[in-house]
Amino acid sequence: MSLHNNSTPLGQPAIGVDVGGTTLKFGLVSPDCQIRHQFALPTNAQLGVDAVLARIAEGINRLLDEQHEPVAGVGLGVPGVINQRGEISYPPNFPGWEVVPVAKRLRPLLKQPLPIAVENDANVAALAEAQAPGATDRDFLFITLGTGVGGCIISNGAIWRGATGGAGEIGHLSVAMNGQLCNCGARGCVEAYLGQRYMTALAASQLSRFPESLLHTMLADGKELEPKLINDAAEAGDPFAAEFLQEMGEILGAGLASAMNLLDLHLVIIGGGIAQAERYLLEPARRSLRARLMQSISRDVQLRPARFQNNAGIIGAALLAKTGGSW
Ligand SMILES: [Zn+2]
Repeated sequence: MSLHNNSTPLGQPAIGVDVGGTTLKFGLVSPDCQIRHQFALPTNAQLGVDAVLARIAEGINRLLDEQHEPVAGVGLGVPGVINQRGEISYPPNFPGWEVVPVAKRLRPLLKQPLPIAVENDANVAALAEAQAPGATDRDFLFITLGTGVGGCIISNGAIWRGATGGAGEIGHLSVAMNGQLCNCGARGCVEAYLGQRYMTALAASQLSRFPESLLHTMLADGKELEPKLINDAAEAGDPFAAEFLQEMGEILGAGLASAMNLLDLHLVIIGGGIAQAERYLLEPARRSLRARLMQSISRDVQLRPARFQNNAGIIGAALLAKTGGSW
């Protein structure tokens, strides 16, 4: 159950926690969705479930210590699928986690008895786009490009979860029947091209054929090969980088088109690391998308970067806390 009224800001501040495989980000978010105070702690995921939950509680308690007004609740965005009972199942990059009832385990560790809502991290970032003050879009596909490729379907302003909470996995739509092997076990998934590690490995495997590429100089300067660096090279006029990203954009557009044709959605919002790569990634994605859409959709389709970038996880999680979360 959740409330979805874009014109009503949060009444009290809420705490949003973005739970990542390497970093935990904490923020106290005001009623108008401004982050009043934020900090990060290392996740230390290798230490196991109890240690990570204790670290999450430590961060929340620190914010509660500093905050003298009442807090509405705590929201957490976590990787992995969250089921109807609020349990997270096998989150990637969290060794030792199987099925963990996060809110239930966290509650006794907090200084105050606050409501705790838990949701998948891509869903949380999508919620920020759908429900923060000023949001006007009620139906869209959200995709986040990071280590993995996450997604969420927003329908009538709310997260569309599917039967068991796992809907929206656009990263695992297949764009090539016998394509690259994906971490999920299937072939040709969007993530097997657009996921950060896959994209980087693909670029690395092609780079040796382009000795003129600016990327060689950038790497010799100690920079790390990653999607953002490829975009920097493209922006600096490197033809290899530009063509490589354009191909990635075409693949992205093909995956998005399948989802939008299926769902009759007319808007895609892209978040994550390289969502700002407008010229070399988003524009080719737009062209590829339009070329593959049913005519009924293609006339007014839009693809745009997310309003909230680095802080989407914290703000979305705080909104989740306020609306009471999921299901
Ligand atoms: Zn996959």
